[in-house]
Amino acid sequence: MPELPEVETVRLKLLSTIKNKTILNVDVFYSKYDCLKSIRNEKILDINRLGKFLIFNLEHFNLISHLRMEGKYRVETNPVKDKHDHVFFNLDSGETLVYNDKRKFGVFNLFSKDIDIYKVEPLLSVGAEPFTIKPSELFEKIHNKSLPIKSLLLDQSIISGIGNIYADEILFASKIHPLRQGKTITLSECESIIDNAIRIMTNSIKNGGTTIRSFESFNGESGHFQGSLSVHLKEGKRCINCGNYIKKIRVGGRGTYLCEACERIRDFKLIALTGTFASGKSTALKIINSLGYKTISLDDVYNDLFINNEKMRKEIFKHFNTLDKSILRELIYNEKCENEKLKEITHKYVFNEMFKIIEESNESIYFVEVPLLYEDSYEKIFDNVIAVSPSEDIERIIMAERHITEEVYDKVMESQLSDKEKCAKADYVIKNDSSIDSLKIKIKNVLKEVV
Ligand SMILES: [Zn+2]
Repeated sequence: MPELPEVETVRLKLLSTIKNKTILNVDVFYSKYDCLKSIRNEKILDINRLGKFLIFNLEHFNLISHLRMEGKYRVETNPVKDKHDHVFFNLDSGETLVYNDKRKFGVFNLFSKDIDIYKVEPLLSVGAEPFTIKPSELFEKIHNKSLPIKSLLLDQSIISGIGNIYADEILFASKIHPLRQGKTITLSECESIIDNAIRIMTNSIKNGGTTIRSFESFNGESGHFQGSLSVHLKEGKRCINCGNYIKKIRVGGRGTYLCEACERIRDFKLIALTGTFASGKSTALKIINSLGYKTISLDDVYNDLFINNEKMRKEIFKHFNTLDKSILRELIYNEKCENEKLKEITHKYVFNEMFKIIEESNESIYFVEVPLLYEDSYEKIFDNVIAVSPSEDIERIIMAERHITEEVYDKVMESQLSDKEKCAKADYVIKNDSSIDSLKIKIKNVLKEVV
C-alpha cells in the first residue's frame, strides 16, 4: 500500500503534468466511482495531500482520492482502456488522466467547495503528519496507550502517512522495539520517532518512493527507495548497525522486521566474553554464573538448536545432505566456503534464540560467551567485550584436557585472531595464568567495573 512518500511522489508527478488543465468531463466504468460524473469543465487549481490522501482542488469541488492498495494514475492521449481502468478524466489538453485500480479498493470523495473538507470524513479523523506534528502532541496521544508503538504509528488518527514499511524503518532508526507499549515511550523517544520519520520519508520522496510488489507512482514508474531500506523485508540478513540478524515478528497482525540488539525490548546490558579457543572462557563464564549473573553460551545454544530446532535442521540438511556432526565438522574443517555456509544457515537461529532467552528472563545484564566474536563481526551487538587471555601453561593444560593436538590447534588458529589481537580490541582483559581461585578474583574485579 502506498504510504506518505509514495502518495507525495504521485502528487508531485500529477502537479507537474496536469495542474491548471481543465477536466472537460469524466467517463466512469465502475459504478463505485459514479460520483465523479458530476465533474464538468473544472480547472485543476492545485493538488494537495494529507497523510495518504490526495486532494484535487478544483474550481467548484474538492476531490479526495485515496489509492488504498493498488490505485494508480497515468496520463495518456487517446488511451486504450485496460480492464482495470475505471475512470477517464478527459482534459482540455487532449490528454486523459486515467485511474486504474486492480483491486478496486481505492476511494473517491467529492465535496462542493462550501464544505470544509477537514471537518468531515474521511479527513476529519486523519491525524497530523510527521512533517507537522510536534513531539509533545505525539507523546500526549500515546502516553496512556497499552498498544504496541508499531500499531500506534499505523493508526492514521494518531499520526498520518506512516504504513507498514516506514513504521519498521522509523522504529529501527529510533532504536525502539515495535512491541513496546505506547505508555513506555518517552518524550525524547517521540522526538526521535518524528526526526527519523521526516529524514526517512524525505529521502524516500527524493527517490520516488518505495516499490515493493506493485507501487508505480505515475505512468508506470517505479520508486527507488527500496534499495535504501534497513530492516523491512530483510529477515535473516545482518543489521547494518551491529551485525545481528534481522528478525520477522507479527505486531497487530502485521509482518514486522527488527534488529533485537538495536531495538531492545527493555533496558539491559549485553556483555560478550571471548578468547582464543583454549583460553578458559567457558570456565570464566561458569564462574560469572556462580556469582549470580545470567550467562549464555552460544556454543550451548547452537548444540541445543542442532537437536531441537527442526527448521534449522532442515536448512542444514538441505545444503549439506547430512546431520551427522562429525561429517559436518570434517566438511567445514577442510572447506572454508562450507564453513561460511554453515554459519550463514545457523547463526541467525543462534542469535534469535539468544534474544528469546533474554526476552523470557528479566535480568538487567547478560554475559554471553561468543567464541568468534571479532572474526564474525559480532562485537557491535554487545555493549562491552571481555577477553580471557591464557598463559601458555594454562593453554597447554586446557589443550591436554580436551585432547587437542598441536596440529589441530594450529589449523584452528589459522582462521582466528591471536590472543594479542583479541586483547587489543576488548574493553576488558582477564589474564588466565594461575589457579581457578585467582581467576575468580580477577573476574570479580572486572565485574565491579562492568556491572
Ligand atoms: Zn542491529
